[in-house]
Amino acid sequence: MVSDVRNVIIIGSGPAGYSAAIYAARGDLRPLVFEGSVTAGGALMNTTDVENFPGWPDGIMGPDLMDNLRKQAERFGAELVTDDVTEVDLAASPKVVKVGDDTYLAKTVVVATGSKYRELGLPNEKQLSGRGVSWCATCDGFFFRDKDIAVVGGGDSAMEEAIFLTRFARSVTVIHRRDTLRASKIMQDRAFGNEKIRFEWNSEVAEIVGGDKLTGVVLRDVNTGEQRTLELSGLFIAIGHDPRTELFADQLDLDEEGYLSVEAPTTHTNIPGVFGAGDVVDHRYRQAITAAGTGAAAAIDAERWLQEEG
Ligand code: FAD
Repeated sequence: MVSDVRNVIIIGSGPAGYSAAIYAARGDLRPLVFEGSVTAGGALMNTTDVENFPGWPDGIMGPDLMDNLRKQAERFGAELVTDDVTEVDLAASPKVVKVGDDTYLAKTVVVATGSKYRELGLPNEKQLSGRGVSWCATCDGFFFRDKDIAVVGGGDSAMEEAIFLTRFARSVTVIHRRDTLRASKIMQDRAFGNEKIRFEWNSEVAEIVGGDKLTGVVLRDVNTGEQRTLELSGLFIAIGHDPRTELFADQLDLDEEGYLSVEAPTTHTNIPGVFGAGDVVDHRYRQAITAAGTGAAAAIDAERWLQEEG
């Protein structure tokens, strides 16, 4: 099947994709949105309370927020398809977006595929996400006032998260596989100098423990295999994230960490008519509101590009 040429195809259905869809639909561009299959709705589908998205004074559950954004996009005529894009040819004119054997054509494409937080791969991890297990100190630190929590990781991000979390927590234990940190010297000095931070060296998380809520972790000594339990209210996993750019790697310019490069402060990529928004571009802020903001910007950039070039 080959479609008519659309004004805009949006790939992704997180805050960036849906915000781009709302703006493009209200601009009468009738966007086609590929939401993804298992991960439709994006990263916030895996969390509970979101308390920092403006406009929700009492907070809102992540999946409810995403459902609202979805409905808002639909209300203005966005066409939503719960499928994964499998191939693209963005240099072609019109641009080609494939979903299996089906081919869709568009004058512009917005890439809003997000980034994936690396997981430990342990059985309870997903189930306790938003119930004590977190990947975002900025988002969830506030929930852990006077609690004992831990951060897994040894790089700059892990130290940044640990230091930030000491504002709230009673204690922060850094769990690290090795006996030295990968973090830069300055971050190490800050972490070592913080009296709330302690370290579990040569340790990995063997088990995440809890029922409705996280209660602790079982740590394994990587040298001796010895196990011990650490009681915790919060576990922040800071072992990195991978932007979802595999589909675009040989077509769009990426930075050294694999994130999509754009001509900031715009959302233009190196290919005219292709725009990038949200966490697939951003390794600095990684928030729902910043993703929504750049999603809106991408739709406005696409609209202007269509006026001038399309
Ligand atoms: P994502 O939300 O990651 O969405 C990416 C989308 O792309 C998904 O819909 C996926 O299905 C789609 N996709 C990927 N590949 C394809 C493909 N090939 N075809 C079609 N679709 C595709 N931020 C806050 O501001 N407040 C919070 O409280 C908060 N809590 C969080 C809790 C957790 C557990 C996590 C993981 C993150 C949290 N964040 C929070 C961060 C926030 O979720 C992200 O910054 C935000 O979701 C990024 O939005 P995005 O649209 O760029 O990407």
